[in-house]
Amino acid sequence: MKIYLNGKLVPEKDAKVSVFDHGLLYGDGVFEGIRSYNGRVFMLGEHIARLFRSAKAIDLKIPMTQAGLAKAVVRTCLANRTLNGYIRLVVTRGVGSLGLNPYSCVKPQIIIIAGNIQLYPKKHYDDGLSIVTVGTLRNHTESLNPQIKSLNYLNNVLAKIEAINSGCMEAVMLNPQGFVAEATGDNIFVVRGNSLLTPPSWCGTLEGITRNTVMDLAIEAGLAVREEVLTRYDLYTADEVFLTGTAAEVIPVVKIDRRSIGSGKPGAVTRQLARTYHQYASSHGTPIQ
Ligand code: PMP
Repeated sequence: MKIYLNGKLVPEKDAKVSVFDHGLLYGDGVFEGIRSYNGRVFMLGEHIARLFRSAKAIDLKIPMTQAGLAKAVVRTCLANRTLNGYIRLVVTRGVGSLGLNPYSCVKPQIIIIAGNIQLYPKKHYDDGLSIVTVGTLRNHTESLNPQIKSLNYLNNVLAKIEAINSGCMEAVMLNPQGFVAEATGDNIFVVRGNSLLTPPSWCGTLEGITRNTVMDLAIEAGLAVREEVLTRYDLYTADEVFLTGTAAEVIPVVKIDRRSIGSGKPGAVTRQLARTYHQYASSHGTPIQ
């Protein structure tokens, strides 16, 4: 595999970063997870734009233009023939002193890995996922705003540990006010009648690119789509619940806290949206050429 490292494509074994990189020392950096389908990078511009917003929010200046970075992603996919894959784009603060001061770091590191991912086994796409609400709250928006896709994922890792230790693959995270925020690496949706509901970003959610695409597709399909503050009551009494994410795509949730959601089986709206999303993602994007 060839890795993009600061403007060069280098063999995997040579793709190394310094132990003094603040990305490693402090989780000081930002990232994106992007997918390619059928030789096209899906939503590349949206991912790059979000990366730049995340970087801006932590006062990190990416030493490339958005167009230049988009080209670098395509170049890395081409070099690895990543026609159907998963791309990890990482910008770290770079090498600095052992102290916290980010301004001691001179040059951000830009890393692009074009590989693969399978987040959940196929059977969960067919049968649905069992998830739990966990005690680890999503970061307070004024501590580390979940809209920033930073390299500091310990909040999510702690929630994931709780989920796995209670026999589930994913967690629902609440925000400090007790409202539903999101899953550890995915956004969450509720289907209630003809309505499709998801928490607004101020509730402590990343503004997912899959989330936004699914909302657009749902509007086209005639659903009433709204951002709404949700509580666990709304999850337990929903007709359907599903998660969305670049890696996960659209995955049904059939149990939360061991309670059956709706009929206890993946619902018709979720299955239709999952199909529509996959079709849309498979036929749109920036060509890898
Ligand atoms: N929330 C979190 C915490 C995430 O890490 C992600 C991405 N894995 C998402 C939501 C979904 O975002 P997207 O659809 O842009 O991948």
